Amino acid sequence: MEKYEEIEQDSEVVLVTGGAGFVGSHLVDRLMESGKTVIVIDNLYTGRKRNIFKWLNHPRFEFIRHDVVEPIKLQVDKIYHLACPASPVHYQSDPIKTTMTSVWGTRNMLELAKETGARLLFSSTSEVYGDPHVHPQTESYWGHVNPIGIRSCYDEGKRCAETLMFDYHRTHNVDIRVARIFNTYGPRMMENDGRVVSNFIIQALDGKDLTVYGDGKQTRSFCYVDDLVSGLIALMEGNITGPVNLGNPTEFTIMELANLVKEKIKNNVNVCYEKIPQDDPKQRKPDISLAKKEFNWEPKIPLTKGLDLTIEYFAKRYESQKKKESE
Ligand code: NAD
Ligand code: UDP
Repeated sequence: MEKYEEIEQDSEVVLVTGGAGFVGSHLVDRLMESGKTVIVIDNLYTGRKRNIFKWLNHPRFEFIRHDVVEPIKLQVDKIYHLACPASPVHYQSDPIKTTMTSVWGTRNMLELAKETGARLLFSSTSEVYGDPHVHPQTESYWGHVNPIGIRSCYDEGKRCAETLMFDYHRTHNVDIRVARIFNTYGPRMMENDGRVVSNFIIQALDGKDLTVYGDGKQTRSFCYVDDLVSGLIALMEGNITGPVNLGNPTEFTIMELANLVKEKIKNNVNVCYEKIPQDDPKQRKPDISLAKKEFNWEPKIPLTKGLDLTIEYFAKRYESQKKKESE
């Protein structure tokens, strides 16, 4: 660890809301490794202290347990605003809170950015395109979203937060960046949050059949978390407000994903079929030409490699869990 006296006084101060979560904690690692001073705000709803444990006593790091729905005053240079549950299971368990987190949380971060002059990056989502009629999805597509369904708290919350971002930009000249993130996976996804990559890996490790919802022909494009973090930083440091799609454009059916996991974790499991959730998008694939053109970003880690890294993480956690249970 660096000694106090070795710390640069002028190190840029970066706030990461949701920094104890899956994506946020990987972003924190990258920012800390590049010498930034990092403040994390998180209410630990879906995040875990273990994700940022290695930084807790570092002199350039601070953790504040705080809910973004409440205002906060801090002096910062940049804000990555990620706080919001991202998996359907969690964002639907308290949907009113999810809308409030997106809308009011973003309003509070915009007020902070307005007061401090900090640049604010908002983590929006491919869900703003809903069940899309344009494929692949470009940033100019306005989307096809059910405003009153069970996914709406997340989709419409993010859409309204994007509106606030652009209105603060036009009205108060706040320096904004908007990332539309597509399905991302990797180590530190929560075991119990129901997302397809973690579900399939855990089921396969446990010798259980993989739960395919519907006929498994729906598609998603999966981006490894390290690639996403590079994209978020490039967007923050670049010159365009966005919105910019960040995702891996290689598209897979859910059945293809299930088969890949089965091949990798040879545990003699099959698939079983379950009911498709309401408003589940049938296809999703980002057009990333804007990110490529503007800041030369594209993902580098293919699904098969990213899955190996993710399986390695879950296998370790699975082993230590089993060991604890047998003690
Ligand atoms: P996550 O659930 O692992 O992390 C979200 C973090 O925000 C958690 O640490 C949680 O405790 C915190 N949080 C939630 N509500 C809060 C509140 N009211 N106040 C303070 N902290 C709060 O999710 P993730 O996958 O890391 O997603 C991070 C961001 O990226 C989210 O905004 C999500 O919408 C967006 N995103 C993620 C994906 C993906 O595939 N992972 C896709 C699109 C968009
Ligand atoms: N899915 C599935 N089995 C699971 C979990 C999810 O077939 O155990 C499907 C889900 O219906 C969706 C896709 O996989 O079509 C991606 O789901 P996830 O919740 O990971 O992300 P999102 O729906 O938000 O894209």
